[in-house]
Amino acid sequence: MYFYESSFEGFVVRDENRNAVARVAAEADAREIVAALNLVHAMAGRFPGLKGDAADEVGRLTEQEVDGADLVDFIAGQLEWDGDGRFHEAGEAAVPTVVIRPTDRLVCPHCGHEGTPGDRPFTYVEDAELLRPVKGVEDGALLVQAYYEVSDEGGEARLFCPACNRTFPVPAGLQTEFVD
Ligand SMILES: [Zn+2]
Repeated sequence: MYFYESSFEGFVVRDENRNAVARVAAEADAREIVAALNLVHAMAGRFPGLKGDAADEVGRLTEQEVDGADLVDFIAGQLEWDGDGRFHEAGEAAVPTVVIRPTDRLVCPHCGHEGTPGDRPFTYVEDAELLRPVKGVEDGALLVQAYYEVSDEGGEARLFCPACNRTFPVPAGLQTEFVD
């Protein structure tokens, strides 16, 4: 199931493994994305034939008839619309936005390594693009300026654990500050 939480840039939608699937500025947008993703997830569970690869006991693909009225009832049970045309998950009012207190101890979720004190620290890894102006084409060569700018927009940063060589997301609730 998907959920969203506030982040310092706005709101981040996450799956059950806490992977970020969307970042938006407005809470109503986050709510709609969560509702839509959970609806699709729930529909695939309720009407397995929708996936097109549901198989019977002997492995043959099966087609499932989906009654239109059932489908409408199902969707109406999953979503509620506001007066302004926005929608959200039905009954969502009972489930407030999750607020997570930041941890003060950072531990690898895979192996339990504690990578902040000591001599084997975690590495903060982020994807970045190098941007270099193209100067032209000359004698069969693309001329690209050696100097570059760095764009670090977009990619989600993660922490690399030197003990197990795996990465994990920065725990929710923690903000990142870059220091000397
Ligand atoms: Zn580890």
